[in-house]
This record gives sequence, structure tokens and C-alpha cells, in this order.
Amino acid sequence: NLSDKLDKALHILKGHGQITEVNVADTLKEVRRALVDADVNYKIAKNFTNAVKEKAIGQGVLKDLKPGQLMVKLVKDELTELMGGDTAGINLSGNPSIILMSGLQGSGKTTFSGKLANYLKTKKTKKPLLVACDVYRPAAIDQLHVVGDQIGVEVFSDKENKNPVDIAQKAIAHAKQNGHNVVIIDTAGRLAVDEAMMKEISEIHQTIQPQETLFVVDAMTGQDAVNTAKAFNDVLNFDGVILTKLDGDTRGGAAISIKSVVNKPIKFIGTGEKMEAIDVFHPSRMADRILGMGDVVSLVERAQEQYDEEEARKLQKKIAKDQFGFDDFLKQIQQVKKMGNMKDLIGMIPGAGKALKDIDIDDDAFKHIEAIIHSMTPEEREQPAIINASRKKRIGKGSGTSVTQVNQLLKQFGQMSKMMKMMQGGGGKKMMQMMRG
Ligand code: GDP
Ligand code: MG
Repeated sequence: NLSDKLDKALHILKGHGQITEVNVADTLKEVRRALVDADVNYKIAKNFTNAVKEKAIGQGVLKDLKPGQLMVKLVKDELTELMGGDTAGINLSGNPSIILMSGLQGSGKTTFSGKLANYLKTKKTKKPLLVACDVYRPAAIDQLHVVGDQIGVEVFSDKENKNPVDIAQKAIAHAKQNGHNVVIIDTAGRLAVDEAMMKEISEIHQTIQPQETLFVVDAMTGQDAVNTAKAFNDVLNFDGVILTKLDGDTRGGAAISIKSVVNKPIKFIGTGEKMEAIDVFHPSRMADRILGMGDVVSLVERAQEQYDEEEARKLQKKIAKDQFGFDDFLKQIQQVKKMGNMKDLIGMIPGAGKALKDIDIDDDAFKHIEAIIHSMTPEEREQPAIINASRKKRIGKGSGTSVTQVNQLLKQFGQMSKMMKMMQGGGGKKMMQMMRG
């Protein structure tokens, strides 16, 4: 899945002490693949990674000690920007403010009309009126009435009238007479874009001149959503996008593509069938969701705060020269521990959260290891090779562990030193992976 892929991408970066333009390109290739898998249009994903690459070079990621982390941040920031940066509100300046819904059948217009009415009523103390302009299906009118009853909002409808423009106009007159300051017009959609639907919605739009025309789209439709958005925007020049059905596993890559193609802000998202399942769209949260990275940015920030760059540089030199000893190991453990609660930390590593959810990670996981190392003489720490059977016995006794445990640590340490040399770089995550075997 997506987070595995990003893991892989970032692993490529972390695996190299010295970052080069070649492995930045490799990483971004993986990021691009991950985005395309999340329904982002290929061209957009490509432009995106090109932009990140330029920034990466500009900001000196190539020279940075922890390029992987800077890269994560860059990717996330750039994604956020791509989706509009900040949240976008809706225009409620009219009296009444008229909000027109558009979109295909099944996209969630009727449900969202209800959610928005409920939201405006409770959060903004408005008095909305819902208007049923889906004249083709009597059931659609009934559906809006059910929604209106549920949230205590009046619904204007006329089952005898087959002219949606006329219904909308009458509804607005009714709203003015009855003190409704928001009019939400629910319209008919079809299963695919066609001329008749476009003609109808465009007539309603031209006649009533809404303050807000919203395009409602099912986030699960992926790439198709982009084409539909474009078709509606060409006719309506709408003001904002509503992404529905973002509950469950939907990645929401469509959000990026739609924003890029029609350049209109996404204003709200729908996250369920209930009337309360509505959220203001936050680009940065969506970036997190798309990247599937959980809290990776705060992990990065915390790690950056704690990481002693000078130490790390020294360590890399030692590894290269085969001088990595138990004292260095101890320092690394302390470094990892300084970053916070182990379980929290591991949960923040992309992909690791899920896999390790059920494993019980003790904050004292390193206690034995530390005790054993503390029982070694400075000489033993520097040259573990000299630790023979009698030394092992003494260390075991001194640390309150067994010879088996000492052996285990020596073996792990040996493997780890070898791998570290191979990878030419240290770091908490890798070390922990090795210790888990
Ligand atoms: P319309 O044809 O555009 O008016 O679409 P509807 O509002 O009738 O919604 C179509 C279906 O999608 C209904 O079964 C809704 O309950 C469902 N639906 C709408 N919004 C959401 C959402 O955000 N999440 C989920 N899971 N279902 C939704
Ligand atoms: Mg409907």
C-alpha cells in the first residue's frame, strides 16, 4: 500500500549517509508512484515531484545530515500547498445567501445539502431553507424531506412542478418572506455527464445567480472525478468542491487532481452517511491522509530537535573505520530514548504503527542491554572481540543477566556493526529494526 511505498522511498534516502541527486530522484520516483496509486493523475504527480526536487536541491537537502526527514517535510508541505494551503470558507454574504449544488447522481448532493443546512444552523446560527429541485424522481424529493425532518430544517418542494428554475425562484421568494437567510438548492444529477443535465443546471445557475455554486463529487470515483469536475466547471465556473465519501479507506488522491485541474478550493468533505459527518477541508490533514504517514511530521520535528548532529557525524566516521564500539551503541540507545516514549515513537514511524500495534513494547526494553554494557570494562566496550568466556561470565554476573543474554547481545551487536557499515549510516529507526531481528 501507499505507506509501504513511501517507507521504501524514504528508506532509499536513509540508507545513504551521503545523499546524491541520483537517490533523490529514486525517492521521488517512489513518491510519484505512491501518488498515482492514490488516484492522483500521472501528469500532476510528475509536476509535483519535479517541484519537490527543485526545492530539495534549493534547500540543501542533498547536503543535510538527515535528508530523509527533510524530504518528508518537503513532500508534505508541497502537497498541502497543492491542495490550496489554507481552508476556504463559503460566501454567506447574500440575503438570502443562495447555495447551488451540482454533481452527478449518487455523488451525495442531497445528503450534503442536509449536512450543510445542519452545519450552518448549528455552527453559524443561520436559518436555512432546503429546496428540492430534482424533478425527475419523486423519491428524491421525499429523501430531502426525510433529511429536513431529521435536522429540523424546512424543505421547499412542489411535486406538480416539473420546472426546476421555476421551483428555485419560488423557493427564494418563499425564503425572503419567511426570514430564511440561506437557501440551499438540491438539484438532479445523472449517472454520467450529458447535455441535458448541463443545460438544466446552467439555466438554474444563470437565473438565480447563487453566491456559492458547489460541485459535489464522490472521492471514491478517483480519476473519473477529475473529468466530471472539469465538465461541470466549464459550464458553471463553480466556486468550490465538496468531496464526499471520504470515510473508510478512500485515499482522497482525487482532491489533488481536482484542485490542480479546475483550480477551485475544496471547501468541505463528507465522511459518512450521518448528518454530522461533515468537515471543513484542511489541506494539511488531507496531505497526511494521502501520504498515509500518520504523525510523521511531528516525529520528524521531534527527532530533529533531539538529534545531535555533531555526534552523528562522528559516529559515521567511526562506522566507516570499523571503530564502532559499545560506548557508541550506548549513546545511540540514549539518543533513541531521549526522543520519548518508545511506543509513541514507533507508532509515528510510517507503516510501523500498524504492524507493531499488537506487540508490547516496553519502555524498559533497553534496560538489560544497558546493564550489560555498563558491566563491561572500557577496553571491552571499545574492542568487543576480546570478550571471552570468562569475561562473559563476569559481565553476566555484574549486570544481573545470564551468559546467554550476554552472548545474545554480542551477536546482535556484531550483526549490527556489519550492517551499519554496509549502510554507512546510523539512526534510531534502523537500529531498532536490527534489534528486533
Ligand atoms: P445524490 O444523488 O447526489 O443526491 O446523492 P445522495 O445524497 O442521495 O447520496 C448517494 C448515496 O451516498 C446515499 O446512499 C448516501 O447515504 C451516500 N453518501 C452521501 N455522502 C456520503 C458520505 O460522505 N459517506 C458515505 N459513506 N456515504 C455517503
Ligand atoms: Mg439527490
